Amino acid sequence: MNNPLLKPFDTAPFSEIRNEHFKPAIEKLIEETKKEIDSIASNNEAPTFANTVEALDYTGHQLDRVTSIFFNLNSAQTNDEIQKIAQEVSPLLSNFQNDILLNEGLFNRVKDVYSQQENLTLTSEQQTLLDKQYKGFSRNGANLSEEKKEQLRKIDANLAKLKLTFGENVLAETNAYELHITNEENLSGIPDGIIEMAAQTAKEKNKIGWVFTLDYPSYVPFITYADNRTLRKELALAFGARAFQNNENDNQENVLNIAKLRHERAQLLGYKSHAHFVLEERMAKTPQQVTDFLQELLEKAKPAAKKEFQELETFAKKLDNIDHLEKWDGGYYAEKLKQKLFNLDDEKLKPYFKLDKAISGVFKVASKLYDLQFEQVFDIDKYHDDVKTYRVTDSYGKLVAIFYADFHPRSEKRGGAWMTSYKPQYIADGENERPHVSIVCNFTKATETKPSLLTFIEVTTLFHEFGHALHGMLANTTYKGLSGTNVFWDFVELPSQVLENWCYEKETLELFANHFETEEIIPMELVEKIKASASFHEGMKTLRQLSFGLLDMAWHGKDPSKITSVKEFEKEIFSNTQLYPDVQNNCMSTAFSHIFQGGYSAGYYSYKWAEVLDADAFAYFKEAGIFNKTVATKFKNTVLSQGGTQDPMDLYIAFRGKEPNPDALLKRAGLM
Ligand SMILES: [Zn+2]
Repeated sequence: MNNPLLKPFDTAPFSEIRNEHFKPAIEKLIEETKKEIDSIASNNEAPTFANTVEALDYTGHQLDRVTSIFFNLNSAQTNDEIQKIAQEVSPLLSNFQNDILLNEGLFNRVKDVYSQQENLTLTSEQQTLLDKQYKGFSRNGANLSEEKKEQLRKIDANLAKLKLTFGENVLAETNAYELHITNEENLSGIPDGIIEMAAQTAKEKNKIGWVFTLDYPSYVPFITYADNRTLRKELALAFGARAFQNNENDNQENVLNIAKLRHERAQLLGYKSHAHFVLEERMAKTPQQVTDFLQELLEKAKPAAKKEFQELETFAKKLDNIDHLEKWDGGYYAEKLKQKLFNLDDEKLKPYFKLDKAISGVFKVASKLYDLQFEQVFDIDKYHDDVKTYRVTDSYGKLVAIFYADFHPRSEKRGGAWMTSYKPQYIADGENERPHVSIVCNFTKATETKPSLLTFIEVTTLFHEFGHALHGMLANTTYKGLSGTNVFWDFVELPSQVLENWCYEKETLELFANHFETEEIIPMELVEKIKASASFHEGMKTLRQLSFGLLDMAWHGKDPSKITSVKEFEKEIFSNTQLYPDVQNNCMSTAFSHIFQGGYSAGYYSYKWAEVLDADAFAYFKEAGIFNKTVATKFKNTVLSQGGTQDPMDLYIAFRGKEPNPDALLKRAGLM
């Protein structure tokens, strides 16, 4: 078959690809990569860094490229057929990954190189690659006896099942509830768009009136805007009781079992706890570091949170004669207070943020900081007309990257915004292969009469994703396994979040924030309001994030076998961060999908961690001037270009001259 995915290509050959090309190409390329790997494993020569570790990094180039094209399309331009193929090829790929990790011949060679590392003269990048590969095997049980390996497989299989059940239960409980409203008075306070959505939901369920559900897009606006306190309470209690109702969807046993199995797994692999296991490959390193970090922030945030809470209570008392704020009141009165203090809505800001201008703005920022030039080109194959393509060059005109930008929503695209790549950066045979990087967003499209205008949140989203893209585009490492965004999880949001800071600066806004009709630059008074409203109730928000981080660490940092009651355990952990009265028949852990179903176990802290990093890094820029070339070049050379070639703390210190410190964040958040 004439399959374009099996021929060499530079940029992804989107227009030639048919859906039926994917599966055979992936199958064939798995076979080929297997052969590459087998020839490394069965090499007769003694293992060396070059013939084993480096060789392994160079395997599977074409497979990587084809799978990245495929899974990107599945997110940005999908259809039933692509989804069906994804169901078929995903197990093939995960089995293939498992086969590599269980390949004993291969592991023995990597281990051999690993054990002689003292005598090898490796660069720090090579050292990191060796470490990463070795850990990839050992953390998966490669050093265990056959018997223990068997035990590990059993635990993994059990965990996979439990996590699945946990998620299914949360989903079932979320879907099992609805708030059916037939009296229009009960909609008071809720914005029109949300009411329309609720009417639509009712219609889909063959009901009259309006239906609100426990899905976030329905639940959050109701809790935030509905004037009817009784109904807010009903909805909030239903939300908090998910998978905690002693019915067939209850997750209490599952939570306990997941925590216990994770602990057992960690012990089997020689770690003190699951958190010790996870954090070994994080910038934070140890559970103690994470807990200290969370406690330090807690100490600083708690007084502010208490004060904000009291002010909110006074406000609610004055407005509606409410004596004590409950969980279902917080969001509602906070929104009212925010409106009163800032009177800032999206419609006021949007005219200043025309999408085309914002894009050229972010390009100008990249040019001022890193000397990058973006030229839109029309000869690169793409998967949809809306996609824009750019050649990115440095000040010498040399190619840095190909950049794809796909900005507008389509029914074939999933929600949200993300950065991704179609080709990694790496150096082979002296040739520096430049990356192909993409960002995908869901910004409102222009109409015949109005250009695409962004909300301020969309502007920061654009800068955020572009920050990830810079991490990819400026990559300059030898090995693809360490290139670009291949860094520890609690470091990957630094380049993206730090760039968001530029959106709040006058010097940046002057580059692009002109009114789309009058050309007037956004008034500074509005910008100041944006800044102030961004840190509104930061004490309470911080306390909430910290409580989740502490709960996560409590479940995963110690032996959980003595815990018998999920609710009592959680209550004790929350006692130090609690503002609202506890609700005895609500529970957080039984629906905490981030840590019990998703990949955030012993990782929830990383949200705050990344904020500390970005605030601290930006403070350095700010001291010297936000477009200061010396600081920017330092950031490029020590962070953006380095990927995961060294421990992130070392990279950060090389940039900043010292370890990150939470003061800048506390200052930005108004907590100091
Ligand atoms: Zn991000």
